Amino acid sequence: MEKHRSSNKNGVTVPEALTTPVVAECDVLVCGGGPAGVSAALSAARSGARTVLIETHGCLGGIWTAGALCWIIDHENKGGIMREILHRLRAMDCGPGSENRASSAYDVESMKYLLEAMTREARVRVRLHTRVVAALVNDQRRLTHIVTESKSGREAWKAKMFIDATGDGDVAAQAGCRFAVGHPEHGESQPMSLMALLTGIDPELVRPFHNRSNPASQELAKKNLYQYLKKNGCTPSYSAPTLFYIHENLYALMANHEYGFRATNADDVTQATLRARAEIQNIVQSLRRSGGAWSRVALVATAEQIGTREGRRILGRYTLTHEDLTLGRQQPDAICSPTFCVDVHSTNPARGKGYDNAGVIVTPYQIPLRAAQPADVDGLLLAGRCISGDFIAHASYRVTGNAVEMGESIGCYAALCVSPSQTTENLREKEAVRVS
Ligand SMILES: Cc1cc2nc3c(=O)[nH]c(=O)nc-3n(C[C@H](O)[C@H](O)[C@H](O)COP(=O)(O)OP(=O)(O)OC[C@H]3O[C@@H](n4cnc5c(N)ncnc54)[C@H](O)[C@@H]3O)c2cc1C
Repeated sequence: MEKHRSSNKNGVTVPEALTTPVVAECDVLVCGGGPAGVSAALSAARSGARTVLIETHGCLGGIWTAGALCWIIDHENKGGIMREILHRLRAMDCGPGSENRASSAYDVESMKYLLEAMTREARVRVRLHTRVVAALVNDQRRLTHIVTESKSGREAWKAKMFIDATGDGDVAAQAGCRFAVGHPEHGESQPMSLMALLTGIDPELVRPFHNRSNPASQELAKKNLYQYLKKNGCTPSYSAPTLFYIHENLYALMANHEYGFRATNADDVTQATLRARAEIQNIVQSLRRSGGAWSRVALVATAEQIGTREGRRILGRYTLTHEDLTLGRQQPDAICSPTFCVDVHSTNPARGKGYDNAGVIVTPYQIPLRAAQPADVDGLLLAGRCISGDFIAHASYRVTGNAVEMGESIGCYAALCVSPSQTTENLREKEAVRVS
């Protein structure tokens, strides 16, 4: 890489940068090791591509692990890697449907271990503790390198095809792609929430607060918990606090909403995290003080990464809209089949602190490949919640069952694009596909 001079926005001259070494060249480079990124990397590697996966946290899994989510939505109609993950978790007695476990719950540590094992078996080169900080685009508007920072300093990575699975669309934004954030009218984003893991709860005694047998009783359970906390002097910032049963010694709690913060602003993410962690302490202490079924409740952990519902939605060659969801639109180049409802968490506490479906009823629909192809840059694909969609559509397809299926399709497509049988010409043709 060439040396360059730069200055920050206050005009202070930064000393000449050190030459950035190109530390690897590969076929497919996946940025972000969440549900979408891991499955993209597995699928690319299994299709024969030399694949690198770069993740900023110290584990794979994104919201599943660093985010301590423990609950997989919209997996029921999915095959492939999603089914394989569920099957292997069950075999470890740690996944949805295992004996004594809820139908969508899994164990965070088992998920970490499993994703590491699967990437190792597929010969994905994994780099943890490494953040993508820049993207280099050539004169033909093709992404050629990304730049990372880590304990090894600043490094450049070259690949034939890149996949942005950072959730927030960091790489696409660094490459100069256009994007949208938040609601189209007022610009507000859905709130962030910090997940927590709890123990010391008797499943029978707290059944009114976590009844998992059907959606109606789940709604009632949330109301019960909210009212109980209020009665005990602690009103959570989320009016539908949810206690997820994982197994008889472990529960996950989602009880806070951090309003008005941007997921792509480090100060905002910091403030949201500090506020949320303090609120969780307060909630757990209030529960314990209330005695009875809660007298032994204890906090096992709060998530390392606060959960982001919304980051950037990168502009693609097709943008999914709420109409696609209501019509149940099928696509000629489908990469994923979501069935989940629209789930918009309040963007402003003055208008309520819960969630709703914004009046949109979903008919199972499909996501086209074009929504994962950025409109502005070649050599880059998208997977997960940063694909191209409007505010409402995103509120449905963002869940992890869909992230995995998208990742699997996109990883396979990326490998196909870089396979030796592809000439530069037909690769250009493939990338030039533009329908409506
Ligand atoms: C509080 C909350 C509750 C939710 N509840 C559910 C639920 O119950 N079930 C469900 O299925 N879904 C749920 N969702 C939605 C779902 O979690 C996300 O939409 C999902 O994480 C999308 O997967 P992803 O792989 O696109 O993104 P992520 O899981 O966010 O993964 C992105 C990965 O990229 C990494 N990364 C980010 N930036 C960089 C960078 N610059 N360089 C390197 N690595 C980077 C991150 O560390 C992370 O590992 C919830 C979301 C939130 C916030």
